[in-house]
Amino acid sequence: MTMTPISQTQKKTDLLALTLPQLQQWLKDRGEAPFRAKQIYNWLYRQLETDFSAMSNLPQSLRQRLSEEACIGPTVIRSELHSKDDRTRKILLELSDGKLVESVLMLYPPLKESSSRATVCVSSQAGCAYGCTFCATGQMGFDRHLSAGEIVAQVLFFARELRTTPWTASGLPGSTPIDHITNIVLMGMGEPLHNYTNVLQALRILNSNDGFNLGARHMTVSTVGLVPAIRKLSQENLQINLAISLHAPTDELRSRTMPVNRKYPLAELLAACKDYIATTKRQVTFEYVLLSDVNDTAEYAEKLAELLAPLKQFAHVNCIPVNATSASYQTPGPDAIRAFRNILFERGISNSVRAERGDDIAAACGQLRTRFENSRKAPVVPVVTPQA
Ligand code: SAH
Ligand code: SF4
Repeated sequence: MTMTPISQTQKKTDLLALTLPQLQQWLKDRGEAPFRAKQIYNWLYRQLETDFSAMSNLPQSLRQRLSEEACIGPTVIRSELHSKDDRTRKILLELSDGKLVESVLMLYPPLKESSSRATVCVSSQAGCAYGCTFCATGQMGFDRHLSAGEIVAQVLFFARELRTTPWTASGLPGSTPIDHITNIVLMGMGEPLHNYTNVLQALRILNSNDGFNLGARHMTVSTVGLVPAIRKLSQENLQINLAISLHAPTDELRSRTMPVNRKYPLAELLAACKDYIATTKRQVTFEYVLLSDVNDTAEYAEKLAELLAPLKQFAHVNCIPVNATSASYQTPGPDAIRAFRNILFERGISNSVRAERGDDIAAACGQLRTRFENSRKAPVVPVVTPQA
C-alpha cells in the first residue's frame, strides 16, 4: 500500500474529512466541476483507492491537482499485530503530528442465525481527559481530538486489508470469507462525545450512500456519560447505537473509578438515558466492566438491576471482564461472572458478556500504545506480526 510521507501531507486537504457536499464545494472553489466529487467519492470509498494517479476517469489535470493539494488520510502505520487465532488485529497509527492512536479489527465467524461480522474499534482522540482508573488510555491524559479524516482513515485501513485478503475463520472452511467492514464501534482511545463534531462528521461520511454506505444501525458510540452531549445526540435523528459506560451502580463507587461521575452523577445520567430512549425509541447498552471484588458482588448486581429497572426492556447490560492494565484490578473468574449475570437475569435485565479476545496483542485500548512507548527507545517498528 502507498503511504504518503508525513512531510508531504501537511497543509494538504484531507479528503477523508469531507462530506460529499463539502467535497463538491472544495472542487468548485478551485474552478473544478462539482460532479467530479461523486467520482472521487467512488474511488475513495468503493474502490478504496489510495493513489490519485489511479483514478482513471478523472482528467489528468485534476489528478495532478489532487496529488498537489489533497491527501487521502494523514496516517502512517507504525505497527500491526494479529492475535494467534487472527480474530483480532490491532494497528498503531502515527498521525501527522506524531501522536499515536490504536484501532482494532475484530472478526466474528457466523454463529447460528447471525452472519459473520468484521467490526472496527475506532479511536476518537489521542489520549483521554476522563481518567477512568481501570483504563490504559485514561492514564495517559488528553493530547487532542482526532479530525473526522483521522477517524475515517482507521476504518478504511481495515476495509482495504479485507478487500485485498478476505478473512475466513480457521476451522470453519465452509464459511463465506469476509471481505468488508460490517460494523464500527467508537470504543477505541478517547471519549467520542468529547469530540462530538468530528465524530458525527466521520459517521456521516461513512454512512454516505455515495461512498462507504455503512448503515447507521451498524455504528455504536460509547460514552463515559457526558450528559449534555447525550441529550444533543438524541436530537440528531440518527439510527446509531448508544452505549453508556456505567461500570458502577452507586455514586460512591462510580466516583471512585470514574471521576466524571462527580460532574454528571448517576441520577442525571439515567435521566438523560431515559429521555434518549423516549425520543429515539432505541435500546441503550450499558457497559459494565467487571472488576473482581470491586463492583462484581451480589450486592452491586442487585443495585444495578434496581437502577436500570425503570428503563425496562430498553436497557441491555454488556458485562466486560476487565482487561488487566497497569492498575491493580483483577478479572473475575467464570463463577463470579455467572453469579453476577444470574442476578440480572432474575431481575429481568437482559445482559450478555463480552468474550475475551486478543489478549496476546494487548487488546484493551491504550495498552498497545503504552507498550510501544515504553519500548520507544528502539527506533521505528515498521510492521510487527507475531507468529500465528
Ligand atoms: N471513552 C468511551 C469509549 C472508549 S472506552 C467510554 O469510556 O465509553 C470503550 C469501553 O472500554 C468503555 O466501556 C470502557 O470503560 C472500556 N474499558 C476501558 N478500559 C478497559 C479495560 N481495562 N478492560 C475492559 N474494558 C475497558
Ligand atoms: Fe476515557 Fe473511556 Fe478510558 Fe474512561 S474508559 S478514560 S472515558 S477512554
